[in-house]
Amino acid sequence: MNTSNLVNVGMSFPMSYRISVDKAIGITTTVPIEIVYAAGYVPIDLNNIFICNEDSDSLVDYAEIKGLPRNTCAWIKGIYSSTKKTGIKRIIGVVQGDCSNNHALIEVLQAEGVESIPFSYPHDRDSDSLHKQLEFLSNALGTNLEKAHQMKLVLDNVRKTVHEIDRLTWEENRVTGEENHIWNVSTSDLMGDYELFKAKALDFLEEARKRQRLEADVRLGYIGVPPICSNLYSFLGELNVHVVFNEVQRQFSMPYKTDTLIDQYTSYTYPYEMRYHIEDIKKQIAKRKIGGIIHYVQNFCHRHIYDRLVREHIDIPILTLDCDRPGLLSGSMRTRVEAFIEMLKNTAKSQ
Ligand code: SF4
Repeated sequence: MNTSNLVNVGMSFPMSYRISVDKAIGITTTVPIEIVYAAGYVPIDLNNIFICNEDSDSLVDYAEIKGLPRNTCAWIKGIYSSTKKTGIKRIIGVVQGDCSNNHALIEVLQAEGVESIPFSYPHDRDSDSLHKQLEFLSNALGTNLEKAHQMKLVLDNVRKTVHEIDRLTWEENRVTGEENHIWNVSTSDLMGDYELFKAKALDFLEEARKRQRLEADVRLGYIGVPPICSNLYSFLGELNVHVVFNEVQRQFSMPYKTDTLIDQYTSYTYPYEMRYHIEDIKKQIAKRKIGGIIHYVQNFCHRHIYDRLVREHIDIPILTLDCDRPGLLSGSMRTRVEAFIEMLKNTAKSQ
């Protein structure tokens, strides 16, 4: 086999394999992968390629050497380098409903020969506008919405396994917050092979159901984009904290029961206004009995501004944690997390 045009995907847990670069469609955020799979292509989430790289920090350096500014979000630089290093030739560029940094990145990649198929999440969540977008993407990839709908039924079954992993996290306390994070975040592309993904998830479920329940001092929620730092969850575990809610990652798994692709991608909160995120977060705080929240914000990300709205509308203790590059938590971040958890433990004791 000629291995020169293969992309390494799923480089860490839960699987590792390679696919032909001609079949790969890079994605920079969650998009309707039903259409990508229905068209016979393989979606590859470039965020996952970046963060699973053994030396992800060097991918940030590489992008800076290539001229991306130091004061730009490191995820953007990681996506740039991952696209270049894997040789992916085609991406779906989300031009509305993601971030302006990403829009600029898409233009840079286009200038360097990467084809970008534009996709927009309509700002007002309008069903007709979304229908047009789904139709456009289907045509661009050479399939149609009927085939994509059939694929939705298949993928609903795959995603069901991750919903059960999520339930085992918060209701039965048998799955750790980190495992929950990894399975949920991996649903953005289903690791490029939804059948293998489902088989691995079913194996995991079988093993997890036999575990002892975790006994934690604090039940915590994590909101905001996935963390770039590698040891946040393990550090929280050392402090005997159980993370029972990963907000954005859970959204990637399409957690609501829907009958159509339009319902699915208008219910999905991530690309839409913060008030939809907050509604979902409040419901989950009550349902999952969450005592405190870590609001993660990526350095140089516009989403940091939402912290004000989060604090205005959510009435349990919140720690806002910001981080720049991949790697371990710094000493000062560890101290802030420790102090926050200590406060939550003391509050729980006094109740
Ligand atoms: S962290 Fe913020 S700036 Fe960075 S890619 Fe995500 S949304 Fe864009």
